[in-house]
Amino acid sequence: MEPENQTLSLSSQAIQEVFKKQKTNHFKTAQTTAEERIQKILKLKTTCLSRADDLKKALHMDFKKSALEVDLSEIYSTIAEINFTVRNLKKWMKPTRVGNPVLMTGSKSQVYYEPKGVVLIIGPWNYPFSLVIIPLISAIAAGNCVIIKPSELTENTSRFLTEIIRDCFSEDEVAIFEGGSETAQKLLTLPFDHIFFTGSTRVGRIVMEAAAKQLIPVTLELGGKSPAIIHPSAHLPQAASRIVWGKCLNAGQTCVAPDYVLVPEDLKDSFIAEAKKTIESLYGPTEKDRQKSSDLCRIISQPHYERLKKLTQKAVTDGAQIELGGIFDDGEKYVSPTLLSNVHASHAIMEEEIFGPILPILTYKSLDEVYQLIQSKSKPLALYIFSQDKKQIQDTIKKTTAGGTCINATLVHLANPHLPFGGVGQSGVGNYHGYFGFKTFSHERAVLRQGVFDSVRLLYPPYQNYQKKIIDLATRFFT
Ligand code: NAD
Repeated sequence: MEPENQTLSLSSQAIQEVFKKQKTNHFKTAQTTAEERIQKILKLKTTCLSRADDLKKALHMDFKKSALEVDLSEIYSTIAEINFTVRNLKKWMKPTRVGNPVLMTGSKSQVYYEPKGVVLIIGPWNYPFSLVIIPLISAIAAGNCVIIKPSELTENTSRFLTEIIRDCFSEDEVAIFEGGSETAQKLLTLPFDHIFFTGSTRVGRIVMEAAAKQLIPVTLELGGKSPAIIHPSAHLPQAASRIVWGKCLNAGQTCVAPDYVLVPEDLKDSFIAEAKKTIESLYGPTEKDRQKSSDLCRIISQPHYERLKKLTQKAVTDGAQIELGGIFDDGEKYVSPTLLSNVHASHAIMEEEIFGPILPILTYKSLDEVYQLIQSKSKPLALYIFSQDKKQIQDTIKKTTAGGTCINATLVHLANPHLPFGGVGQSGVGNYHGYFGFKTFSHERAVLRQGVFDSVRLLYPPYQNYQKKIIDLATRFFT
């Protein structure tokens, strides 16, 4: 159902009109220079920075997100992407010269980066600002027109996004439609040139199905269960503090949050002790202190909160032990940072992505058990390794797969715009950030200009023996 406040949710006809305007405009937008695109991106940067306090208020109203976490995970990450794009865009836009096979001697071959056209960006609620604006930066950098559909669950942030998009752009270049799944469904009937979706694997399937009907390419930034593996050689206090931080940022509502930990059996108690120490030092020494901490945000909605409560209760029924936390405040939708031991691979909590500040701790005897468990599940969005043993780190990388990996860290790989960010298998299709985002929203067009000397002419009919010799030679010695 659409939320009540859909004054901004427009009819199918209004959506189609904007789409038509963008379709008419997109060849003009495609011809913009790097400088013109940079100016658009810089205007967005100035507007975002000048209204940072409004964004903080909106996110606080939506799920009590701390202002400093907004600075770090929403504003800093977005501005870093803008700065990186502005610094590199001219270079990215230049056609890339590539080689020629010997039979095409004298030709000039290049890859041109042309915009896809009119693209759709559908955003999630967990980082509702940056997960819409970062792909938007890449889409503008590549010269596209864009329609955005932010999440309905963070209604204050969505309204803020609408204001800044309307301040910065005319609707024939960038437009935004608020609303829930119905609005998204209306948009998905249109013949976009690319769809960029961030959200759950369940809705990712719906988006891909809709796109397939019109053969629209998609980028799907999805979720999944991201494991953190602790090797016997790991520095335990460091591992515990980095895993707990990654788990509790945004109250665990982060797509790349470490979902569960795999720890050698004999290190379990030490790990739990270190994880408890970290929780106490980050959010306060007692449950009461932590509940009052303004650094822990709330769970986004009642259904998400109920799901976490049931999942924890079921884990306990299955035999898990609460080592710390397990406090649920219904009125506040507050879930305390929770450590669960005695969790087994067969428990319900090991089936779906947790997306809350609850950390199951599983033990293992040999790393082969770890690989078997991870290989039996969907390919994760992230996989974290804590280790001091270089050979074992490489071994773990080879025996697993993931969208991205950090060694002795969690989350931070997504903050490096030099790296691609995306999933693999059920955790996603395609990637973005920096150059990879520019490429995602570009069509790589092959352009070959034949030279004055026409070597291919030698191969025209009527066919002769000498032509066979040329082809044989080329087949054997050249490409
Ligand atoms: P969601 O899939 O419920 O919603 C995402 C978007 O899809 C929203 O804008 C929503 O309105 C829209 N939507 C919902 N139902 C739809 C339908 N039937 N048809 C078309 N559109 C529909 O996801 P969410 O709850 O907002 O986000 C949480 C999920 O997103 C988690 O699984 C998380 O792991 C994942 N996520 C992934 C990344 C990433 O970069 N890989 C980042 C953030 C979140």
